[in-house]
Amino acid sequence: MIQTAAQPDTPKESPAKLMKCLIKEDLQKDGLSLKTDVREPAVGYGEVKIRVLSTAVCGTDKSIYNSARSEGIRKEMQRYLPGDNDYRPIIVGHEFCGIVEEIGPGVTAEHFAHAPSHLLIEPGDYVTAEMHLSCGHCSLCRTGNEHICINVKVKGVHLDGCFAQRVVVPYKNVILLGKGGNTADIPPRIGAMLDAFGNAVHTVQAANVSGKSVAILGAGPLGLMSVFLSRAFGATRIYLTEAADVERRFALADDFGADECLDVSQGSGQLYRSIEKFETGSNGVDVVLEMSGSLPAYQDAFKIVRNGGHVILLGIAREPLPKFDIANGVIWKGVTVQGIFGRKMFSTWETMLSLIKSDRLDLKNKLEKVLAKKLYGLHEYKEAFETLSNGKELKLVFSPEKN
Ligand SMILES: [Zn+2]
Ligand SMILES: [Zn+2]
Repeated sequence: MIQTAAQPDTPKESPAKLMKCLIKEDLQKDGLSLKTDVREPAVGYGEVKIRVLSTAVCGTDKSIYNSARSEGIRKEMQRYLPGDNDYRPIIVGHEFCGIVEEIGPGVTAEHFAHAPSHLLIEPGDYVTAEMHLSCGHCSLCRTGNEHICINVKVKGVHLDGCFAQRVVVPYKNVILLGKGGNTADIPPRIGAMLDAFGNAVHTVQAANVSGKSVAILGAGPLGLMSVFLSRAFGATRIYLTEAADVERRFALADDFGADECLDVSQGSGQLYRSIEKFETGSNGVDVVLEMSGSLPAYQDAFKIVRNGGHVILLGIAREPLPKFDIANGVIWKGVTVQGIFGRKMFSTWETMLSLIKSDRLDLKNKLEKVLAKKLYGLHEYKEAFETLSNGKELKLVFSPEKN
């Protein structure tokens, strides 16, 4: 029987264990700090404690690393704080996978008495987690829109995250990847990047690309993932733009199924000509996926979308758009614009796990190609962020257990 009025159990007393983690100490200064003497987080009511196997770095982490240069990320990290001087250091990181170590009070067998045992999450299971914590009470949460909850807090941005040896998350946010710690189906390097993969799945699904031409702006990890996803979802022609490190990114994109890879470092002329050449039935592409967050890309997005087309925005502009022509770009073209934040809870997760388990789509190998070969220890964080900043690698994974 489902227990409806569970009382919190008294938390067990246990000696404080210390762990290694990466902390953002001061928003006004670039960089992170490695700590080796931080207390492991205590598992609270309704929570699960996870030993982190792998944790991936994304663009948001890069912005946090370079926080002195980005007012946007400083504001974001202080969104829920009462005043500007109330910031307290947090553990960064929000993409990970690991092994369940402890289930907190309030998550009892009675709650799940009727659940099939293979769906239960128990100590020793291999899991990942949705790190966007919704409130469960606002009207958006109550109408199936938890991903845009007005009180959503992101672990690793507003709360302690997973660049650490242990992390605690609510039971309902835990996603089972392998019972009994079985990592054979989804290797930990891939398990660590599912959050990012989910962003791409959410974006491409929102665009409904089947039978349509798609322009993907930005060939970072999410843009590249969107190439193979658009291909898998039945897009007819895929254009991809990028302004940096184009040779390596376009080689990957070619492998993933892009039709036209266009270097926009010297301007967008080649992009416009290519679309004019192939999109002869209309005045642009059916769908634009903006994945770069760069200001010129927003201009391109509304220029190349056809009348009645869709522009889906995932890239995060860290400053306001200057001189955006909304009449010509959106209104008179009858364009539909949609912003994407996170993953739908939890339908995107269900879709991505189905996709990743399909051998025919070969997505695990494709995701692996986006990652740096080297597995970094947390103590190698400076080298890791340097490698990402200078474009030597697109995405990389930390193993907190590596010394
Ligand atoms: Zn991320
Ligand atoms: Zn809410």
